[in-house]
Amino acid sequence: MPEITWELFDKQVAECRLCPLCQHILHKVPGQGDRQSPLMFIGEGPGQTEDEEGLAFVGAAGQLLTKMLEAIQLPRDRVYICNIVKCRPPHNRVPTPEEAEACRIHLRMQTWLIRPKVIVLLGSTAARNVLDPEIRITRERGKWTERKGVWMMPTYHPSALLRDPDKKKEAWEDMKSLRNKLIKLGLYQDLYSGGEKEL
Ligand code: URA
Repeated sequence: MPEITWELFDKQVAECRLCPLCQHILHKVPGQGDRQSPLMFIGEGPGQTEDEEGLAFVGAAGQLLTKMLEAIQLPRDRVYICNIVKCRPPHNRVPTPEEAEACRIHLRMQTWLIRPKVIVLLGSTAARNVLDPEIRITRERGKWTERKGVWMMPTYHPSALLRDPDKKKEAWEDMKSLRNKLIKLGLYQDLYSGGEKEL
């Protein structure tokens, strides 16, 4: 067994041909951010801008995600952000279960390397692939589940908030819940010192 390292992860993603998605892309989008972060965000898959730049969440949805993080005083470069699939599905369609399954090896390795204490699942594709294939995001968003010492919460995908701004109120509740969870777990103490009271 080779040692699991970021170099191995980068190589594995770069050379991956496990599903057909890589046939039509400009760039792989492995994910990026603070590799020491206790907090990981998982989205669905790269869109057009992400495919062009090779970076996760840099298009319109990504800009909204940055604002959501800023609203709880979290600079974006202090978190790690990635997706269920590392290649853009054509026309931004939802990745098939086979594509998501093929890409799971990368997400597993990534999660192993980051060892996050908290994972936020952005949208139903992420929630279904990580938590429960039957999940309904409208019903389950904002609810916390602990698995092997890792706290996970599904919330709306930022693209859903762009399509339906009425959902922003609930998304804000989820972000406040995230901040409270980080405080309770003693994470980001330099950002949240003196922030013991709930928002
Ligand atoms: N939507 C996602 O799910 N991921 C991205 O990286 C961009 C948009």
